[in-house]
Amino acid sequence: MLYKEPAPIKDRENPFESMMSRFNIAAEILGLDEEVYNVLKTPTRQVIVNVPVTMDDGKVRVFEGYRVIHSTILGPSKGGVRFAPDVFLDEVKALAAWMTWKCAVVDIPYGGAKGGVICDPFSMSAGEMERLTRAYTQALVDTFGPDQDIPAPDMGTGPREMAWLMDEYSRMKGSTIHAVVTGKPLVLGGSLGRVEATGRGVMVSAMAAMDKLGMDPAKSTAVIQGFGNVGAWAAKLMAERGVKILGVSDVSGAYWNDKGIDIEEAIEYKNNNKGRLEGYQNAEKISNDELLVSKVDVLVPAAVEDVITIKNVDQIQARLIVEGANGPTSYKADNIINEKGIMVVPDILANSGGVTVSYFEWVQNRMGFKWTLDRVNERAERIMNESFERVYAASQKYNVPMRIAAYIVAIDKVAMTYKYRGGF
Ligand code: GLU
Repeated sequence: MLYKEPAPIKDRENPFESMMSRFNIAAEILGLDEEVYNVLKTPTRQVIVNVPVTMDDGKVRVFEGYRVIHSTILGPSKGGVRFAPDVFLDEVKALAAWMTWKCAVVDIPYGGAKGGVICDPFSMSAGEMERLTRAYTQALVDTFGPDQDIPAPDMGTGPREMAWLMDEYSRMKGSTIHAVVTGKPLVLGGSLGRVEATGRGVMVSAMAAMDKLGMDPAKSTAVIQGFGNVGAWAAKLMAERGVKILGVSDVSGAYWNDKGIDIEEAIEYKNNNKGRLEGYQNAEKISNDELLVSKVDVLVPAAVEDVITIKNVDQIQARLIVEGANGPTSYKADNIINEKGIMVVPDILANSGGVTVSYFEWVQNRMGFKWTLDRVNERAERIMNESFERVYAASQKYNVPMRIAAYIVAIDKVAMTYKYRGGF
């Protein structure tokens, strides 16, 4: 099998190294023993597949895909599948490790994993996406499993792909197995509240952090970078709590309105415009770079890795950053953020609402029972608030920023579980 490391993306830190740098700091503070450190520093399993897919023009294209299992110490591994043109193995490794820490922070019984396929979902037809998803599932049929490794949506995938994944897996196994994947459509064993769960968790963490900082949501302003599922829901729910959203952005650029963006309207526009804000009128067009450093109280990066870096961190004016995305802040920017006294609700806490409701979906599938939306939201909110308090308490106890505190909480939980299990 030929594996070509993609050319490094200019000026971009290696996400796995970024993750490890934080892990190292927390491990040192905890006095993590070497055996456990060595177990956690490398993923348990890394699978690379090359899957042939017949395209609409009749030609066969081979797609490279990954599934990285970082850890199964807490339970079956859990994590999304990313379809994107620039996915690379070290990114998937970092994302898999972040899933381990995320599940540990919110105290759900899962290990961490992540999948990825190098492809451009925006330029593929539904048929091509279906054939690719099914081929990827076939290649990983022995890796996935409701007690083994449970995929979910991530960038470039959603309920539609999860339905194909569940169907393909079930066909191969000879019976319907709902619990092999989460983030499914409602009619197919999905959970109420899953689609908005990550954005809702971002809002809950933002409210908890604002409370600690003595900020009144109704007198605060925010910008949301990224207007996909996470960003759009976070914007909508924060606006409902009174926060004025001055700007939003996506790949087409950023949109600013001094009076506040009408989020409902922007979502409707995007939904009728192939998921893009391109051409959105009731706002002034600014650049994504300007949006990140604009004068607001709260900055919510909700798109990709490495958007807050040493290049722009000096100019950031927000008092609070709530990380809807995974890894939006590069490791090198951390120190300056801390010096500036900005509070960061880190990714592994702020965006853990998604995997929390994924867990509820899996539990419901296994019970063969459906919870009400109130039950889902109420339990998820409780978990988010308890986790926030746990991390906040650790940040006070160890006198460290919230990010390192979250790693401390997570690593401590995984290390303790490892000890009780007696290693492997
Ligand atoms: N892809 C999401 C994340 O990064 C969800 C994972 C899941 O629900 O398993 O947290």
